[in-house]
Amino acid sequence: MPPELPPRPGSRLDPWIGSYADRAVGMKASEIRALFAVASRPEVVSLAGGMPYVDALPLDTLADTAARLIRDRGASALQYGSGQGDVILREQILDVMSDVGVIAHPDDVIVTTGSQMALDLVVRVFCNPGDVVLVESPSYVGALGIFQAYECDVVHVPMDEHGLVPEALSETIDRVRADGRTIKMIYTIPSFHNPAGISQPAERRKEILEVALREDLLVLEDDPYALLGFEGHIPRAIRAEDAEQVVYLGSFSKTLASGLRVGWAVAPHGVREKLVLAAEAAVLCPSNFTQGVVSEFLATQPWRDQVAVFRDLYRERRDALLDSLATHMPPGTHWTHPEGGFYSWLTLPEGLDATAMLPRAVNALVAYVPGTGFYVDGQGRRNLRLSYCYPEPERIREGVRRLAGVIDEELDISATFGTAATLHQPGGNTAPGPDLA
Ligand code: PMP
Repeated sequence: MPPELPPRPGSRLDPWIGSYADRAVGMKASEIRALFAVASRPEVVSLAGGMPYVDALPLDTLADTAARLIRDRGASALQYGSGQGDVILREQILDVMSDVGVIAHPDDVIVTTGSQMALDLVVRVFCNPGDVVLVESPSYVGALGIFQAYECDVVHVPMDEHGLVPEALSETIDRVRADGRTIKMIYTIPSFHNPAGISQPAERRKEILEVALREDLLVLEDDPYALLGFEGHIPRAIRAEDAEQVVYLGSFSKTLASGLRVGWAVAPHGVREKLVLAAEAAVLCPSNFTQGVVSEFLATQPWRDQVAVFRDLYRERRDALLDSLATHMPPGTHWTHPEGGFYSWLTLPEGLDATAMLPRAVNALVAYVPGTGFYVDGQGRRNLRLSYCYPEPERIREGVRRLAGVIDEELDISATFGTAATLHQPGGNTAPGPDLA
């Protein structure tokens, strides 16, 4: 006879509900994610997901590359590899990073399963529960999810049109430290920000680095969009000015293919050693096969021309978005003018609520991501993120026309009833899911 076990405090839906670690309790799918199941119908114009337009890749060339790799070097390409990543690819990554002014040694680089994993590893090796991470207002939802998973205290620092405000950063550091709390890092996306769509000018980057040096705080520089600038210049990374104070994250997701899941971190020597050990514990090694595809592509194809193809394509889409916003949006609506990357950040007229409005927008066959997802503290109700990376320009125009119609209706409702209805979004930020990344 098996021993009688005490009943578990679970439910029929999830009998393990009482067993999860504290760090998993906050992990929940948002109501918004359910709405996005509807929003992925073809008739809906989705300005929500940050999906790169991989359709513009030379797919035949990539197919040949992958086939050749397996045929000629299959025994190594399909085998486990180094935990730090392939050394030839690490050297090629140095060439990619020379465009943003980063000079490093192949030993300083660790290849990861997308830069998302690099983010996870950095937080894993630095943060204890309760440690403070300073982030922009708003910040990348996928990073917020990681900070929360490691039970960090996320503190938002204001941005202006040039990004993170150095004075506000200093004040926040003083305030948090005066509370006796430990700050572990400043997380920033200096180029073509997700979701704010703005970029830090060189002077601002210098000021932020000065604060970090003065306060002896690590800068975690997340830079997947730097090569996707539309105005003819590539912003110089903060890491280009200081190799010791900054951990730099890069990715092939936006310049080649997000599905290959190849990104990297560049870190000071001691940090890099910890990251490799943490990576080996998590996944043993990054995929040898997809590293091989990236490496072959870089070695045999004019990859900078491919980045230029993406840049031109996204510029055209950015123009379609900005033109149609200017044409259709009612007074009181504001948005950022991205000079690169995938996103514009829109502020609704006073009194409107982007989360409450989303079901009506989806009904009108247009989708976006409400601003509250990019904060941990309930800010962002009047904001929404518009992504122009995936839909064709004509679809973008149609999507904006539909969205403007919904905002007009909301304004009518709020003029009649005082305020628009609200959809409750428990817990603020929740994991985005890959479709919203
Ligand atoms: N950082 C930022 C700012 C991003 O926007 C994304 C993807 N949306 C990532 C990191 C993760 O990218 P990946 O893991 O595909 O390299």
